[in-house]
Amino acid sequence: MAPVAFYGTCVDTPKFGEIRGLEERTLLVVLDGVITSLHRGVAADEHRRRLEEDGTDVRLLEDSEVLLPGFIDTHIHFPQFPFTGAGIDKPLMGQEGFLTSYAFPTEESMAELGTARAVYGMAMETLLSHGTTTALIFASIHSESSKALVDLALQKQGPRAMVGKVCVDSDLAEKYNCMIQSHMSESIDEVEFSARLFGFSDAEVFSKFGLLRGKPGPAAAVMAHCVQMQKAEDSGASIAHCPLSNFFFAHGALPVKRLVREGIKVGLGTDVAGGYSPSMLSAMRAAVLASKSLQFRYVSGSSLADTWRESTEEAKDAHDLNHFEALYLATLGGASALGLAEHLGSFEEQKRFDAVLLRRSCEGRPPVWPTTESKEDLLLKIITLGDDRNVKEVFVDGRSVYRC
Ligand SMILES: [Zn+2]
Repeated sequence: MAPVAFYGTCVDTPKFGEIRGLEERTLLVVLDGVITSLHRGVAADEHRRRLEEDGTDVRLLEDSEVLLPGFIDTHIHFPQFPFTGAGIDKPLMGQEGFLTSYAFPTEESMAELGTARAVYGMAMETLLSHGTTTALIFASIHSESSKALVDLALQKQGPRAMVGKVCVDSDLAEKYNCMIQSHMSESIDEVEFSARLFGFSDAEVFSKFGLLRGKPGPAAAVMAHCVQMQKAEDSGASIAHCPLSNFFFAHGALPVKRLVREGIKVGLGTDVAGGYSPSMLSAMRAAVLASKSLQFRYVSGSSLADTWRESTEEAKDAHDLNHFEALYLATLGGASALGLAEHLGSFEEQKRFDAVLLRRSCEGRPPVWPTTESKEDLLLKIITLGDDRNVKEVFVDGRSVYRC
């Protein structure tokens, strides 16, 4: 394949709290899915001229466009797509709850292979149209339809998919050295259910069965939510932070900024259908709101209320997550949580080229935003106001897999 270059505003977050590429042009050269060279500022201009003289295909991004690393969703349930948007007014547990009334019956319908294929195909398309290029996906308990989901991911060649068949009664992970994903300390009623069933918190149960693994790589454990986790239960496993569904089911919010500062790997998840939006832009917005809610909101019965011993100023700083920090969680933070930071999550030479090209507005939609604004404002507006209509093109492993 011939190399392709991208020249324009290419923004990423090389570490939590840092954002780069807003003030200067960047030139990325992509060959066989890999970023083979990367230049910024004046060097980008010079290399662009040389490449154009050599006849290399240089794609010039428009002023109203921003290229970001593809979004990484660290927690999503594909079998739950059909009831997205419903059931969030119920409690998580109990006979009338979200799981019993909505999740379990809908997941059971995935036993029928045709239904599963149709739902999973639609879910894949949805993710790509929202700029998600990698996802850690829950399938259902059914082996054949879970395999069909893997086949579909291979066929579509995007998004990158790590698929987990649901195993509710086996402890097979150590035998096969599998990556583990589950939910942990999600809500007060869920932690109480675990205590009734096992006599321990769910975090202690996972630990006793060897299902909490901190080491990076494919055999790591990624636990969703962890909102009600006690400090003593810090496991070393990665956390999939799902702020939108936490608002409905968790009776609290994850102190995400503090956890990241403590060195815990945290990615962002949509948690469809506990979260009603498959959009990682929506997840970023929810992460900011959830973090800020901790500045002024303590929930009776939550573990957080007992463990906080901070002054007001300390609490404000610890929970003042901003939208660019949320972008880190949606990209490099997610890659780190999944053990893939060596390959994905930011624009670096030798990393794979997974990217989403976002635009200010699209055809048929009034250009409501002014054009004389800084790139920082442009990106902030897209994160705070944008949706799938702002996604112009999506790339996985250097291939264009979605264009609108
Ligand atoms: Zn979930």
